[in-house]
Amino acid sequence: MRRKTFKKQRARVRRYFTWWIPRLALGAWSIDVLYQRRRDYRQEHDASANSAMTTYVDWRYLDAAIYVNVSRVHGMSDTELERAVVHELCHLMVNELRQACGRDDANDHEERVVSHLAKAFQWVRKGKLQL
Ligand SMILES: [Zn+2]
Repeated sequence: MRRKTFKKQRARVRRYFTWWIPRLALGAWSIDVLYQRRRDYRQEHDASANSAMTTYVDWRYLDAAIYVNVSRVHGMSDTELERAVVHELCHLMVNELRQACGRDDANDHEERVVSHLAKAFQWVRKGKLQL
């Protein structure tokens, strides 16, 4: 990926984080978003080859680091990218339950919950529901 494309995609991702972090009431968190090319991303994280982002959460101190596979983001639609950003941010809300749960499949349950929340938040944002 060329440098110009990398910068363009990084800016695209940043817009979603900037919009969503305050709207998900995550302003009290320290959130580092780090942008990587595919090769570095795959080498540094135990993430699937096709994943766009990986999040590490230390819920005790409201600290999180979100690593973005910019090469993967490049091929995502705006809807997919927004959902991925919201998905990762939702991990901050529920990650502590994984440890509290103590089950071997706690990670799978966390993924299911954050996937659902991300879709719900995105649906509400796009919705034009009139009451
Ligand atoms: Zn996830």
